[in-house]
Amino acid sequence: MKIIPHVIDGRHSEGDGTGRADVFNPATGAVAAQVVLGGQSDLEAAIAAARRAFPAWAETPPLTRARILFRARDLIEARMGELAAVITAEHGKILSDAQGEVTRGLEVVEYATAAPELLKGEFTEQVSRGIDAHTMRQPLGVVAGITPFNFPVMVPLWMAPMALATGNCFILKPSERDPSAAVLLADIFKEAGLPDGVFQVVQGDKDMVNAILAHRGIEAVSFVGSTPIAKHVYATGTAAGKRVQALGGAKNHAVIMPDCDLDKAVDALVGAAYGSAGERCMAISVAVAVGPVADALVSKLAERARALKIGHGIDNSNEMGPLITGQHLARVRALVDAGVEQGATLVVDGRDHVVAGHEKGFFIGGSLFDHVTTDMTIYREEIFGPVLCVVRVPDFDSALTLVNESPYGNGTAIFTRDGDAARAFTHGVQVGMIGVNVPIPVPMAFHSFGGWKDSLFGDHHMHGPEGVRFFTRMKAVTTRWPTGIRSGAEFAMPTHG
Ligand code: NAD
Repeated sequence: MKIIPHVIDGRHSEGDGTGRADVFNPATGAVAAQVVLGGQSDLEAAIAAARRAFPAWAETPPLTRARILFRARDLIEARMGELAAVITAEHGKILSDAQGEVTRGLEVVEYATAAPELLKGEFTEQVSRGIDAHTMRQPLGVVAGITPFNFPVMVPLWMAPMALATGNCFILKPSERDPSAAVLLADIFKEAGLPDGVFQVVQGDKDMVNAILAHRGIEAVSFVGSTPIAKHVYATGTAAGKRVQALGGAKNHAVIMPDCDLDKAVDALVGAAYGSAGERCMAISVAVAVGPVADALVSKLAERARALKIGHGIDNSNEMGPLITGQHLARVRALVDAGVEQGATLVVDGRDHVVAGHEKGFFIGGSLFDHVTTDMTIYREEIFGPVLCVVRVPDFDSALTLVNESPYGNGTAIFTRDGDAARAFTHGVQVGMIGVNVPIPVPMAFHSFGGWKDSLFGDHHMHGPEGVRFFTRMKAVTTRWPTGIRSGAEFAMPTHG
């Protein structure tokens, strides 16, 4: 049995060996490996190594740090196929989707190579007579990242390049469901020339998370996962005096206006609802049909949902792979059952979809519900599966109210040809990331990623300028020099009065 290790102080290690968890190949349903579940002593070893590495790394000029990130960038690009294959093997998503994920992570590495520029402070001359002021940003120390299963490369790369570029030592606790990609990333950073102890991986489950949250040696925690855990991480981490950004779950609505280009909107919705089997925090899980568009929308969506090509992720001609685990498959099926029981119209039923040759894989078909109402469990809960709910509303105002009454505020989109409706929507909606005729409006690396309300706990979004702020402390320096030797001894040729 293949064992997936920690990476502590530059070495792969099985640590104190307290536990193991099975890692599945979701397409076959077979156990492909076991990941070590670390304990307190593994975390102590990682923190000790990070503390040893920190003074030298923090003193390393940002340009030198950037050069290492440049090399990491080239290595990630060169090993993109290998990274994508590891993602597909453990997560199940289609290979082309996995490559897209690596590319979006790579963009943050590219952004972080601008470290000298990103760390520039501000300077004001003459804040008072003979007095100047400037600011500078310094690293926090040892910081940790805790990541979910659905983007095993991209989400760690939302955090690590920013933490490293700004001079911190970073400890990653990846999801125990697809932990191999983190090890590969550690190997790549080492090959790029990152000193041992600056980027480490501790494997584990909730016990490791709680050990990280309690440890006094960790200054900040960057978390991405489901809302209940994000809340717990934020509350526990901040109570222990840490800086915490905790991104949670989502229920993203797309508002479909009657004047939109319906075929393009349907294309966008199908990809955003069923791509990656709906296991994306920016997936569209609710289509809000405004006025007369509903019947045509549902009939076009149904046709597409029935025709989804579902199969093993290594075949790029497939559109959707399996879910992450058998347990998650059972949960998604049960939620579809609940939708039927609570009176929604199940237009397309994906519950019993079987992929020939992969009968034990965690596959499910795409499901489409119509006439969903806000009291139903399928509307209220994040399903995190290939299930699209259509809610019918009479007009734009009701659509906006519906989106704003959701406790989540990660992403949303509006499909329309009307600039006025689009502007009113982007202005009034209580959501962090908004697409206008764009279904999954994930900001680029040089902007920052983050939702509102129950989709983010904390003050900073991820990567981009917000990432620099999260991983640094600011100092403001006010300077006055006493009278110098200018009038006492002048040997140089005078050039000004
Ligand atoms: P999860 O919350 O189950 O796990 C996330 C991390 O928390 C993992 O590393 C896991 O080991 C740890 N964890 C799990 N249970 C814990 C507990 N009881 N105590 C402490 N730590 C615990 O999330 P997941 O299922 O891996 O990922 C899917 C979720 O992540 C979805 O809700 C999705 O919307 C969300 N997500 C959000 C974003 C975003 O940017 N807002 C991005 C990706 C995923």
